[in-house]
Order: sequence, then C-alpha cells, then structure tokens
Amino acid sequence: PLASREFHPENTLINVRGHLIGGGKPTIMAGPCSVESVENIVEIAQAVKAAGGHLIRGGAFKPRSSPYSFQGHGEEGLKMLAIAREKTGLGIISEVMEPDKVGLVAEYVDILQIGARNMQNYPLLREVGKARKPVMLKRGLSGTIEEWLMAAEYILAQGNPDVILCERGIRTYEKATRNTLDLNAVPVVQSLSHLPIVVDPSHGIGKSEFVRPMARAGIAAGATGVIVEIHPNPAQAWSDAAQTLDFDEFRALVDDVNRISAAL
Ligand code: PEP
Ligand code: MN
Repeated sequence: PLASREFHPENTLINVRGHLIGGGKPTIMAGPCSVESVENIVEIAQAVKAAGGHLIRGGAFKPRSSPYSFQGHGEEGLKMLAIAREKTGLGIISEVMEPDKVGLVAEYVDILQIGARNMQNYPLLREVGKARKPVMLKRGLSGTIEEWLMAAEYILAQGNPDVILCERGIRTYEKATRNTLDLNAVPVVQSLSHLPIVVDPSHGIGKSEFVRPMARAGIAAGATGVIVEIHPNPAQAWSDAAQTLDFDEFRALVDDVNRISAAL
C-alpha cells in the first residue's frame, strides 16, 4: 500500500506556508470549534500567531450530532478564515463534509480536514484525493488503525500524497471522558506508515482541564503536532465549549509541547 513504510521508507513532509509538517519542529494548529465571526476568528488567529502556532483551525461546515445545533456559517465561514490568514500569514484548516463541496473548500483552505464521522466516506475520500491541497484525515469514532490507514490509501491512490493522520480519540466503554485518546496509535502508525500523525487532545478527552496533559502525552509519544480548540471566552463558544481552552491555557500548552519535543 502507498501509505506503508515498506513502500515509502522516508517520512512524508508537508510544507504549509513555510512551516514543514513532520520536519521535527512540532506543528501547532489551534482555533475555535466553529468559526463564529470575523472579529472572533481574527482575535483567535492573532493569539495563535503570538503563541508561536502554525495553523488556524475553524469549522465552517460542521458535522453536529443534532440537526438542530448550529451547522456552521458555510462559505461565509471560509471567507472569515481567509481574512484571519491574510492578517496573520498563518495557514488555515477546515472540514469538508461532502464530495460536492471539495472544490469550494479547497479554494479557501491550506489543509482540507476530513472529520471522524467521514473517515470511511469513500466518495469523499476519493474527491479530496483529487484535490491539490493537503488533507488531514481524522480517525473514525470506532475506526481501527488498519481501517484508518486504508482510508488514507483512498486519498493517496487518487494521486494526492499529502495526507496527515489525526488521532482524535475513539469510542470505548469509558464515560468519564468524551472519547479515549489512543496514544498507542502514535508509535504504531509511525511504524506502519510514513505519513505524519498529529493528536487532537480536545476531542480526545473532551474536558478543557485535561487537554494540556494529553497534548504533552501525545508529543511525548512522538506525535508530529497537536490540534486544539481555543476561544477568548470558552464558556461562550458556539460548539465544544467544555473542551475549549482560553488563550492563557493555550500558551501554557504550546510551551509544554515545545519543551517536551525539544527534549526527545
Ligand atoms: C472538529 O474538529 O471540530 C470535529 C468535528 O472533530 P471530529 O471530526 O474529530 O469529531
Ligand atoms: Mn469541535
């Protein structure tokens, strides 16, 4: 398989606006769960940049568990992200949920995100495989490592070599946390595949007070970077408020990530 180390022994490196994902320096992606307003996303983007982060995350097309919850601003949200990129020079990453929307989302973003719920949406994977933008493929809620790598294979097989894997927690019997961040996946994926792997401790544990220790753990396990949810006022965030960090907590996390990575 194209995703396997046997096929491609060297690590895949992905250059996004001058930052090299997999290049040794930990990649920090941060932003709100949902893009809310221009003012809000620009304020957050400036905080990401000031803390030394590399990419701004933010959902414009949101896969909400309830159809009555806020579904995202759609293309308007992508425009807001593009303004935040213009003001900071940082790259942007946002989710695409439908094959029909890949062209539109790819016009705006630096990295296309495939959400956990779509890990095995094969028509969508084929479509992002034809796009000329890197893709971050989140692990499915009950996806095995083998299924996840095969999902990556769908993208690679269409000619797109730039796939980043994101461990975002899996469903287990444990109910004390939202999901269970599978740290095992980090070294296992690295032995099986050349693709970079990042961890998402925000969705992985689901409670803001535990996000920083799990970011540290992910980096200690060898992850190439982290993606986290941040907001100037987490309690007011339109989605995923309980797992969202404020700017002080985010700066502390970045500090820890950089220190641990440098010590490895
Ligand atoms: C998100 O990144 O906000 C998101 C919806 O993540 P996941 O697909 O991992 O649930
Ligand atoms: Mn979220």
